[in-house]
This record gives sequence, structure tokens and C-alpha cells, in this order.
Amino acid sequence: MRIVALAGGIGGARFLRGLKDVTGPGDEITVIGNTADDIHLFGLKVCPDLDTLMYTLGGGIHEEQGWGRADETWSIKNEMKAYGVGPEWFGLGDKDFATHIVRTQMLAAGYPLSAVTEALCERWQPGVRLLPMSDDRVETHVRITDEDGTRAVHFQEYWVKLHAAVDAEAIIPVGADTAKPAPGVLEALAAADVILLPPSNPVVSIGTILAVPGIRQAVSSSSAPVVGLSGIVGGAPVRGMADRVLAAVGVEATAAAVALHYSSELLDGWLVDTTDADAVGPVEAAGIACRAVPLLMDSPAATAAMARAALELAEQVRG
Ligand code: GDP
Ligand code: CA
Repeated sequence: MRIVALAGGIGGARFLRGLKDVTGPGDEITVIGNTADDIHLFGLKVCPDLDTLMYTLGGGIHEEQGWGRADETWSIKNEMKAYGVGPEWFGLGDKDFATHIVRTQMLAAGYPLSAVTEALCERWQPGVRLLPMSDDRVETHVRITDEDGTRAVHFQEYWVKLHAAVDAEAIIPVGADTAKPAPGVLEALAAADVILLPPSNPVVSIGTILAVPGIRQAVSSSSAPVVGLSGIVGGAPVRGMADRVLAAVGVEATAAAVALHYSSELLDGWLVDTTDADAVGPVEAAGIACRAVPLLMDSPAATAAMARAALELAEQVRG
């Protein structure tokens, strides 16, 4: 079976680890990763979501943190600080730096991000085909108003530095409207037997992937069933601050509202957590098949069960 998933960082990566556990050697998983979180730091191109996917699926992730490398050291960061060179708010460890140096070097030599990602994955062997959503630069900016006035800040500044403490007034995926899907993205979607939307952030992870012209159309027009999983459980994101960016696009932080935001044009099936069983009726009324199952990825077995439930729902809605 050819499975294609759209994914952000932590939520996407953990779900995909469960998906790998319930699929076999005959299955092929292609992951279209969000690159709108990408940022240039210290002259280096950093791709947080692609790296979280690669490290998690390749066995190099810092488990508790969910991002960055296990057994990390921080010499470079401390040396930069001694020079007074920031930003200090973005955590890049020594091992992680090597990834960004290799990436930046290859990009400077003329390789597109998709080729660079493939090269990095040769080391990590994530067991999936990892494609960036686009080789073109797309950067999510967030409009905020604080004591410095109304301005747009890079998504990482909003999320990591400001901890999403001020209201997000608008989410702007700068560059998305002229970006092209990376080589292989539309082909993978066209050939998919199942398309999955993991419990990744619906606005700044999945939303930005869908904002690349051609991708939303390829997902919604695909003959493959499209099944998503809610990252909102009991009216709040399980992890992170997805409610802040949902508010910016006028969507309530509930499992039902996120399904309706994706819409029945895109989704054939939707999984909500058992605590949100009351969402099943309204979601089904909107034309999306919906089931309530446990959606907390608190163990490999629980995560695998989520992946199995998503594939089962895909079979039920097929045809
Ligand atoms: P990011 O790019 O690192 O923020 O990661 P993603 O966009 O892939 O995933 C973030 C989303 O994953 C958040 O909105 C969380 O609510 C969701 N999430 C994290 N852990 C879990 C979990 O155990 N269960 C569910 N259902 N969602 C989760
Ligand atoms: Ca992200």
C-alpha cells in the first residue's frame, strides 16, 4: 500500500513512528514535510520540522524534548554567546549544527532542498521517503501587536521566543503563493492509496503545506481516502500552542471545528479522542466519517493503535 502523509514536526513524527509499526515491507510511506517553519540562523538554513521527522524516525531524537538530538552538547552555542552573537532563544546543539552545516553547504553548491533532504536521510534511514513540501523558500510570519507596535515576526520568534504569549492576529505563509511543490510531491499524492493527516498543527504545519499551489487540489481530488487525526483533545492542543494560531484564523480549538476547517472537500474521515465523542455527530453531519478512539501518543502501543485506527477508517470510507 502507498501511504502519503502531510506532517509538521513533533506530532507528525510521533504519529509516523506508530504508522511504521503497523505497516510492513510491502507498504511505502511518503512524508510531505512542512518547511514553512524554516529559518536562517548563524548563516545556516535550519529546517526544524524536516529534522524532527528525520531524527525521530531515524532514532536520533531527544525523546523527552521531541526536537533536537539525543545526548546533545552545547559548546558552539556557548562560544557564540561569548562573542555576543545570538539569537540565544533558539536551541541549536553541537550535533544539530552539523546537520545545518551540511544542508547549507549543499544548498550553496546548488542542490535543491529535496536533494539535500534525501542526502541527509541516507545517514538517518528514516524508513519513509521524506520530501519537503517545496524547494522554494516559504516562511510563516505572524502579525502581532505589542509594545513595539503592530509588526510581523517570523513564526519561530512568535513560538519559541515569545511563547505565543501575545495574540496572533494573522498567519502569513510568505512565499507560499509562488512556491512550487517539490519534485515527487504531486506524483506521490496522485499515486497514493491512502492519504493521512497526522495530528500536526492544522494551521502552521498542515495548513502551510496545503497553501503551496497544487497540493490542496492534489489531496482533495485524489481517489485515495483522506483521513485526519485531531491534535486537539478535550478542547486544547495536547502539546504546544495550536489554539493560538487557530484563533488567528477564526477556528475554535475543538476537534470538531478543526475537521470543519479542513472541510469535507478535503477530508473523508476524521478521528477524535474518546473524550471528544460528542464531536462525532456534528462532524458526520458535515459529510466526514468520524470515529472516537484514544488519541494520546503516550506509548508506542497507543500510537500504533492510532495509526491502525486511521488505516481502518480509510478502508471503511474507500470507494
Ligand atoms: P510541531 O511542528 O513540532 O509543532 O509539530 P506538529 O505540527 O507535527 O504537531 C503539533 C501538534 O501535535 C500539536 O497541535 C499537538 O496538539 C499535537 N500532538 C502532540 N502530541 C499529541 C498526542 O499525543 N495526541 C494528539 N492527538 N495530538 C498530539
Ligand atoms: Ca513545526
